[in-house]
Amino acid sequence: MKPHVAVLPSPGLGHVIPLLELAKVLVVHHGVQVSFLNITTEASVAQNQLLHPHTLPPGLRVIDLPPADISTLVSEETLVLTRLCINAEESLKPLKSVLMELGKLQALVIDLFCTQAFEICNELSIPTYTFFTPSISFLAFSLYLPTLDRDVDCEFIDLPAPVQVPGCTPVRTDDLLDQVRNRKIDEYRWYLLHVNRLPMAAGIFLNSWEDLEPVSFKAIREHPFYQKIPRPPVHPIGPLIKRDAATTESDVECLAWLDEQPSNSVLFVGLGSGGTLTAAQLTELAWGLEMSRQKFIVVARKPSDASASATFFNVGGDVNDPKSYLPEGFLERTKGVGLVVPSWGPQELVLRHPSTGAFLSHCGWNSTLESITHGIPMVAWPLYAEQRMNATMLVEEVGVAVKPVVEPGKGVVAREEIERVVRMVLEGEEGKVMRRRARELKVKAEKTLNFGGSSYESLSRVTKEWKAQHL
Ligand code: UDP
Repeated sequence: MKPHVAVLPSPGLGHVIPLLELAKVLVVHHGVQVSFLNITTEASVAQNQLLHPHTLPPGLRVIDLPPADISTLVSEETLVLTRLCINAEESLKPLKSVLMELGKLQALVIDLFCTQAFEICNELSIPTYTFFTPSISFLAFSLYLPTLDRDVDCEFIDLPAPVQVPGCTPVRTDDLLDQVRNRKIDEYRWYLLHVNRLPMAAGIFLNSWEDLEPVSFKAIREHPFYQKIPRPPVHPIGPLIKRDAATTESDVECLAWLDEQPSNSVLFVGLGSGGTLTAAQLTELAWGLEMSRQKFIVVARKPSDASASATFFNVGGDVNDPKSYLPEGFLERTKGVGLVVPSWGPQELVLRHPSTGAFLSHCGWNSTLESITHGIPMVAWPLYAEQRMNATMLVEEVGVAVKPVVEPGKGVVAREEIERVVRMVLEGEEGKVMRRRARELKVKAEKTLNFGGSSYESLSRVTKEWKAQHL
């Protein structure tokens, strides 16, 4: 009998995707049987498609948690992280009985926002691991946050200097994530609550590896601050990315169109599961793409002036007509030059295709890893969560991205600037340098994931412990 482990992602595709990849790797490469606990409350169309049993390997079983009624606890105004945390808390109420029904488990692997599981697993004597799905740099920041919270009185964004995370590159206050920009809001309290509970884990898995983030990696391993605070062992096991298959007619069309384009010639524009632009910004982006005269594929979403993550909980569900919100005549004028896919596109397949030359990305961590794993340079367009920190790292430390400049006083990136960066990344000398760097990392990514590579071995060490317990 194989060891049996349960995996529990928090709501939102950006969390479900990497936890599902971990589940698949455990089943396919490490001889573990996995029950994947699926939070069904407010599950999006795209989430339901992703977890369709036909696409999953034998040995990986999806178990739907009963939907919770959160209608009286959230409203239209509730911010994304608060909504996500309330959803998780309510959905996890039956967790104890679900786990008991599964029989003997060697471990539960949870996402950061499911820490209610620690007490339950303690009662049931199940070791609980956290899969921290963003970067190592962001883990270093998050482990430092409780200290920052204790030592600093003002808002962090009012600090006179960048935040010096021990041993790491200082974080500019402009890059701080939305959730810590105002310490009075619920989102801040939820974030702090969950990171405060990180030390309760038996271990922390990370979706990254040393070659990508050498400085933060060293800091977490060796800096006296991280030696002193209670911190479980960290296991870098990345980059784990999803592998798409063409499932819809639109996916097939997209690939057929890519097949006809020259290599490295197409820009893919995708803003993650939640990303949306304001109406003014979307107009500038469309004009900028058209003026660049480069080939493109755009995943298009209805603009929102209220939120930069308007589709986070409804991804794949906002069936829309791009004609109604793109500049008049855009689709006709760019016919043959570009493809516009409404709502959701086969991102990983597009990035893997040899015709794709660059990625205009919101710098979500999964998108970042997908781009690097396929050796694709980026135009960094951060929108929400910790994406500004990711973007700065990609531009200034990793050297695989360019960040367009926002027009002073206007709050938007102008069409001329978009034209400039798109040409630069696809055709310019700087673009070539970024592509070379991305390709070096691609090779290193393959190496670390293969048998004998550091990420493979990190995960293998833990699964061997589970197997030993199971005997
Ligand atoms: N994604 C996709 N098609 C889309 C938009 C997103 O397949 O049109 C996938 C993308 O490949 C990535 C995930 O959704 O795996 C987005 O995760 P990320 O961490 O980049 O951003 P988030 O959605 O959490 O903001």
